[in-house]
Order: sequence, then structure tokens, then C-alpha cells
Amino acid sequence: MNVILLGPPGAGKGTQAKRLEELYGLVQLSTGDMLRAAVKCESKIGRQAKVIIERGELVSDEIMISMISNRIQKSDCINGFILDGFPRTTAQAAALDLMLSEMNIQIDHVIEMKVDDGALVERITGRFSCAACGAGYHEKFDKPATAGVCNNCGGFEFLRREDDNEETVSSRLEAYYSQTVPLLPYYEEQGVLRKINGMADIDEVTRQIESVLEAA
Ligand code: AMP
Repeated sequence: MNVILLGPPGAGKGTQAKRLEELYGLVQLSTGDMLRAAVKCESKIGRQAKVIIERGELVSDEIMISMISNRIQKSDCINGFILDGFPRTTAQAAALDLMLSEMNIQIDHVIEMKVDDGALVERITGRFSCAACGAGYHEKFDKPATAGVCNNCGGFEFLRREDDNEETVSSRLEAYYSQTVPLLPYYEEQGVLRKINGMADIDEVTRQIESVLEAA
């Protein structure tokens, strides 16, 4: 089963993708994580992407398409994947279709996670993650059980994404509405688009996604 999670920044795509990995044995393909890894190791792409990410704009289609095309052909994707953060433009969606048809596979579900803009800013500016294992938290909605200690690995160092600030969030939202929202009718016409309420709590959102995936 191959799934695309669509939604604005802060909708919970990464959180839900991680749960779907566990629940269905799928692989999360997060282009944001791939780019952050490239920035961290200071590769050529990482150096180019860093400035763009910090501005809240989109990295070029050429870079993103080649990144996902290399990743999707790896053997761990054979049992299914969840695309988190890709495609984000119509050119990326068209390139994805081509890639998949050459591999003789298809997208089974495109899930749009709908969240109000006001909630997104609060979600994004409050989030942080464990530096050791990457477990995600929120200063208001999802704190570690013991303050300052990761529930998952016991780590005590936490990180915030550099682009998770109020200024960058508004550019990221603008990019979402102008460049990614036009993909919705594209997937609607293909009959694979389902909308869920991303405003619900994390467990309830997972239940909604499960019911979409299991209704097929
Ligand atoms: P995310 O972690 O998905 O919020 O992505 C963080 C940032 O990485 C975005 O604001 C973009 O600058 C960049 N990015 C991630 N995925 C893509 C993509 N598919 N196309 C263009 N830029 C992307």
C-alpha cells in the first residue's frame, strides 16, 4: 500500500507517518527529513537547500524529484511507503506519476489533513524533538512525561527546527496554499483523495486515517 499525506506544515503528517510505519510496516519518505540530513552533513544540495528552507520557500522541483526518485527505488519501499512532504507542486506530482508507472506501482490513497491556520502556528512554534532519537514533542500538547527527559530513549537534549518560527511559518503556509493546494483537484479527479479532520487529537487522527486505509 502506497500513501500520500497532504496537508499544511504542522498538520501532523510526520507524526502520523511514523505511526503508520509501525501499524502497517510502511516506510516513511519525508523529503523535509532528507533535506535536513543533507543540510547537517553539508552536502552540495544541503548547502543550497539551507537558505531556501530558512526562508520557508520550496526547494527546486529538479532537486526534489531526483531525491525522491533515488529513495523510492530502494528495496525497503517494496512493501509500501508513506510520502510525507512530497509532492508539493504539480511538477512533482507529474514526475511522481511517471516514476511510479515505470515501477509498475500506484498510489492507493491520498489523505488531506485539514487544520485551521491559527492552530498551525501554535503547533509549529511549540514543537521540539529529542536530539538522540528524534521523538517529537510539543510544549503545550505533548510534553515528555518527566520534564527534560525523552519518554522514548531517556535522552535529555532537545532540538527545535530552525524554520519553526512565526515568520517562516507564514511563508511556508503561503507556499502550501499557492503551490500544493492545486494538487488536491488533481488527486480528486483520480478518485484517490480522502479528507480527514486534522484538528482532532493525535489518536483520533490516527483512527480516521486507519478507517480510510482499511475501507479500501
Ligand atoms: P517539511 O519538513 O516537510 O515541513 O519541509 C521543510 C522544508 O523543506 C520546506 O519548508 C521546504 O523548504 C523543503 N521541502 C521539503 N519537501 C519539499 C518538496 N517536496 N519540495 C520543495 N521543498 C521541500
